[in-house]
Amino acid sequence: MEVFASIQGEGAYVGEPQVFLRLFGCSLRCTWCDTPNSWSVPAAPRARIAGLPGREDGWMRPFEAATHVSRLDPQGLRSVSVTGGEPLLWPAFVSELRSLLGGRRLHLETAGAHPRTLASLMNAVDHVSLDLKPFADLDAPEWSPEALPPAARPTSESTPRTREEWAEVRALCLDLVRSADACAKIVIAANQERAEITTLLDDVAAMAPELTVILQPVTPVGGIEAPRPREIEALVDAAVQRRLRVRVVPQVHRALRLP
Ligand code: SF4
Repeated sequence: MEVFASIQGEGAYVGEPQVFLRLFGCSLRCTWCDTPNSWSVPAAPRARIAGLPGREDGWMRPFEAATHVSRLDPQGLRSVSVTGGEPLLWPAFVSELRSLLGGRRLHLETAGAHPRTLASLMNAVDHVSLDLKPFADLDAPEWSPEALPPAARPTSESTPRTREEWAEVRALCLDLVRSADACAKIVIAANQERAEITTLLDDVAAMAPELTVILQPVTPVGGIEAPRPREIEALVDAAVQRRLRVRVVPQVHRALRLP
């Protein structure tokens, strides 16, 4: 969908210069999503490539993506962030991309809805930013893209739908990343049910207490408001009480009006 260079605006590596590969397709519908144009997979995709005029038609293969990365960062000084949408929909792409990036670090941003797919890529990525989603803010419509080329090879793993299914995949994903270079990110908004967030904190404390938890106050979008200071403080306190390493980091690239 996009290839561009910027700074990482979220998570444990906030502020780090990176090259971003944004992939089309997401099987979720988070209420605060700031990239809804990434949700569906167009029949005739067109990618925005920083530094090139217009848009590039057609499906981009990993080799072409890696070529654009090299063009934007010829000396290989930036890490690469693969984001979306949901990159775990495209494990073949991520895996092949890894083999083309040489010594560059590859960071994965994921909603953590596909643990089997994540497991298959743990050796391919150097950092995982794992979003933990409050169930009340989620929706997961059927995801069945049409007109995919054979090389696309999307994941065959289905997306969780019920609260119980989400609890199960969350546990599996936390177990996968607990001893890796990873962080758990939770987007927080105004008027959220506190228990929705403390459930996520409980799971991190029980299953992956080594992880840094990033509480990310939402950038207001589509009627979703940023949390009030006392709401942030209460959630920080809830994390501290659970002996978690917690950081509050808003979307820095948005604040700086960077891409
Ligand atoms: S997982 Fe990410 S891209 Fe998908 S709806 Fe949620 S915020 Fe948007």
